[in-house]
Amino acid sequence: MALSEFALIARYFAALGSSRADVVLGVGDDGAILAPPRDSELVAVVDTLVEGVHFPVGSPPASIGHRAFAVNLSDLAAMGAEPAWALLALTLPDAEEQWLAEFARAAGDIARQHGVALVGGDTTSGPLSITVQLLGFAPRGTSLRRSGAAVGDGLFVSGTPGDAAAGLAIEQGKLVLADELHAGMLRDRFLFPTPRCAIGRELLGIASSCIDVSDGLGGDLEKLCVASGCGAEIEVNSLPLSDALRAAVGEPQAIDYCLTGGDDYELLFTIPQERWAQFAAKVSAGLGPVTRIGTIVQGSGVGLARPRGVTQFSHSGFDHFAH
Ligand code: ADP
Ligand code: MG
Repeated sequence: MALSEFALIARYFAALGSSRADVVLGVGDDGAILAPPRDSELVAVVDTLVEGVHFPVGSPPASIGHRAFAVNLSDLAAMGAEPAWALLALTLPDAEEQWLAEFARAAGDIARQHGVALVGGDTTSGPLSITVQLLGFAPRGTSLRRSGAAVGDGLFVSGTPGDAAAGLAIEQGKLVLADELHAGMLRDRFLFPTPRCAIGRELLGIASSCIDVSDGLGGDLEKLCVASGCGAEIEVNSLPLSDALRAAVGEPQAIDYCLTGGDDYELLFTIPQERWAQFAAKVSAGLGPVTRIGTIVQGSGVGLARPRGVTQFSHSGFDHFAH
């Protein structure tokens, strides 16, 4: 590396994100010292992005920096946890200053937006790969899990799943749209996903279960069902398809993208009937974009209800080892 590891960390990473009073010791020592609030439980998540696997070769560095944090923030959102501290393990083929500056700016922006302080990491030379570990917390005993859904609970999703997968297809040249505006909107959903941290935290004490949609809505719902020991039925006509996705690929294929596309980083969650009113009040108060898409039912697996009947969901999202 042209730039020494020490100089690189000092220049681009030492002060990334928010400054927090609960960071006793941040970047610079052998370890960070952190002071979680009393009566809280720590929630820890980690995710790796590998060039050519999780993002196309040559992706904009700002998108890579944003996504490295967004995918982890989304995991914390799904637990209802408040994000606090990040560790960044960066493997770089070379220390290209402009790449680093754009990566660090975007990573710093999203970390700051969510009140996250970067407190440490590791920097190595090799094929481009970025690992972020995030630590957050929630009041003791309140974190959301995949396992709490019960028969009769309403099933909800945030945002408009499917857009990111179409955006990735556009990035890869597999989907070509005449409409530049729609193409740009869909690409942005892949390049700069919005982790739903505020929604996740508002669901504490209200949702019975939650998972983030990263590998496809249908497949991730199957995971929630397995964890909860139940089935689910999706009302296909109520799936929230964006106008851009509908216009881009037509309704039938938009439904397919919505159910099987990956990289959405939306929240999929269940609300027991006795808490619907409480939830509705949160929605009216501006919780964010959420749509009821179905119901938790007895049995197992995911049913797709259409006016002509119910079929079983069969694709199982994007599976890294199935290719
Ligand atoms: P050590 O060899 O003791 O692990 P390093 O020289 O790798 O220490 O790192 C020095 C300090 O810089 C440590 O506090 C480490 O957490 C931090 N650090 C290294 N790489 C990064 C990075 N990419 N982002 C943030 N902090 C980093
Ligand atoms: Mg050390």
